[in-house]
Amino acid sequence: MAVDTDVLATAGRRRTFAVISHPDAGKSTLTEALALHAKVISEAGAVHGKAGRRGVVSDWMEMEQARGISITSAALQFGYRDCVVNLLDTPGHADFSEDTYRVLTAVDSAVMLLDAAKGLEPQTLKLFEVCRHRDIPVITFINKWDRPGRDALALCDELVERIGLQPMPLTWPVGEAGHFRGVVDLVTGEFVRYERTAGGATAAAEEHLDAERALAEVGPEWTRAVEEAELLAMSGGEFDRERYLKASATPVLFGAAVLNFGVRHLLDLLVSLAPPPSARPDAAGDERPVDAPFSGFVFKVQTGMDRAHRDQVAFARVCSGVFERGMVVTNATTGRPFATKYTQQMFGRERSTVDTAYPGDVIGLVNATALRVGDTLYAGKPAVRYPRLPTFTPTAFAVARPTDLGKAKQFRRGVEQLGAEGVVQVLTSDRRGDAAPVFAAVGPMQFEVAAHRMDAEFNSPIRLDHLPYRTVRRLLDPAQAPILNTGTRSEVLVRADGTLLALFLDEISLGMARRLNPDLALDDSLVDN
Ligand code: GDP
Repeated sequence: MAVDTDVLATAGRRRTFAVISHPDAGKSTLTEALALHAKVISEAGAVHGKAGRRGVVSDWMEMEQARGISITSAALQFGYRDCVVNLLDTPGHADFSEDTYRVLTAVDSAVMLLDAAKGLEPQTLKLFEVCRHRDIPVITFINKWDRPGRDALALCDELVERIGLQPMPLTWPVGEAGHFRGVVDLVTGEFVRYERTAGGATAAAEEHLDAERALAEVGPEWTRAVEEAELLAMSGGEFDRERYLKASATPVLFGAAVLNFGVRHLLDLLVSLAPPPSARPDAAGDERPVDAPFSGFVFKVQTGMDRAHRDQVAFARVCSGVFERGMVVTNATTGRPFATKYTQQMFGRERSTVDTAYPGDVIGLVNATALRVGDTLYAGKPAVRYPRLPTFTPTAFAVARPTDLGKAKQFRRGVEQLGAEGVVQVLTSDRRGDAAPVFAAVGPMQFEVAAHRMDAEFNSPIRLDHLPYRTVRRLLDPAQAPILNTGTRSEVLVRADGTLLALFLDEISLGMARRLNPDLALDDSLVDN
């Protein structure tokens, strides 16, 4: 295959993003609709509902064979207009883990998907917090407008009031939620009328009417929509790309993914507005240009849960240069060479492997047991090392104990390794001692993976006793730890990086501790560093 040597131009046409949403907001539906509009899939797959996640992946794999789109279990890649779009998966439901947050270190922008009836929900808020921490530009898509929901202005107000993000609507719904007629395109002033197609199986038909005809055909609903949109524009919602790129304001679109309403508009925005890959700062703060030799970093490692197949795939985001399968790269963490012969071989049985990748793309390195989350890979000179990935405040805790006390050494080695890899966070305290460390995670899957690997890889099966703490804060002043280490409602534990985590049974216990000790120095941010 001819290698495109103009890396800058190719990278400039990449759009790498993730959808942040709460389960059930419609992420799978939107993903299918996006691929459908990208004319990669001529019919939306019949994948809906909860059993769906694995289904989506396997359906994608079938779709990719049939239509030539390239997919790993971490990313969906498709072409739209003159761009290549990489949609990175942010697992939800039971799969939610620190990996979900880490995916956001590998994107250039995000789409925040809201259910029109629910607005901002807990998981969306958490993922948004990570976007904010990293200054990731966010486009907001308000979904399910075909169903009764909240008022459009109220949803926009919620963005300002709860997360301080200024909405800049680019479309405005005509007809209240549940009576969706179409949208005002606030850039052209036209009425975009949507036509329902049977089951939403094909790209929705759109009709564009000028304002005069819109008024004649839909009357008061049109007038109301235009007035509402003007109201918002006057209160700071005027569109400004710079504010979007600086992540202080968000373009807003209204739609219904299941009917493909508004999806084309979203794709057009991603292509015209969302940032392409750009120079990335290394650990020393120096920026590595996009056209420097190949570099990338591992943001997710997937270990097979099947004992018989200890397969491990490391997913890396390409940051600079051209990746070619077979090239030997250096792992900056160990200084050792790493051969990339088996890039995505696990998907290669039935389809051709991806041989070349550009900045913004995700590559899956198979059997990469030497690779860890956060590792930097690079080719040639100069060397580069990207900053280590952020750590997140855990929400679930369990004491780990070896079931075979004769395996103390293996146990210690395994715990250390899993902690270093970020599979779980490992917490200790003088009170508890080293023999029974506390595993901390943001999702239950992490415990499963840790327990499985302790057994299968380190030959030290463990028992996990879950702790009842639900509320966590970082304790900023170590001298205050003794205050919280009395009684059974709170406890302070230390993470390997020295961070002190104050664990409370619930919000009530936290409130009590605060009332008793008004000087308690606690930080409640989700991202630790
Ligand atoms: P996910 O959990 O975020 O991936 O959500 P899904 O894509 O599985 O969607 C959850 C449910 O919402 C499914 O029953 C979808 O059919 C439904 N849904 C998704 N988008 C829309 C929409 O635009 N309108 C309506 N009425 N339902 C939708």
